[in-house]
Amino acid sequence: MKNDLLNVLVCPNCKHRLELKNPETRGGEIVSGELQCQNCHNLYRISDGIPDLRLPSRNPDQTASSPH
Ligand SMILES: [Zn+2]
Repeated sequence: MKNDLLNVLVCPNCKHRLELKNPETRGGEIVSGELQCQNCHNLYRISDGIPDLRLPSRNPDQTASSPH
């Protein structure tokens, strides 16, 4: 993905800005890394240059989604 895409992408959970973590770039494009929401701190992986912005699947055993 292009670096510019960071200005456009928002968290699918809360529509807040995302921060790029541990980016690996090749040829000026981000090929892998993580996008973390500044607001709800959800983490989205980038693999093969594709940001995976699906909401994390909810594990019925976990109740960690409570807002604080
Ligand atoms: Zn968020």
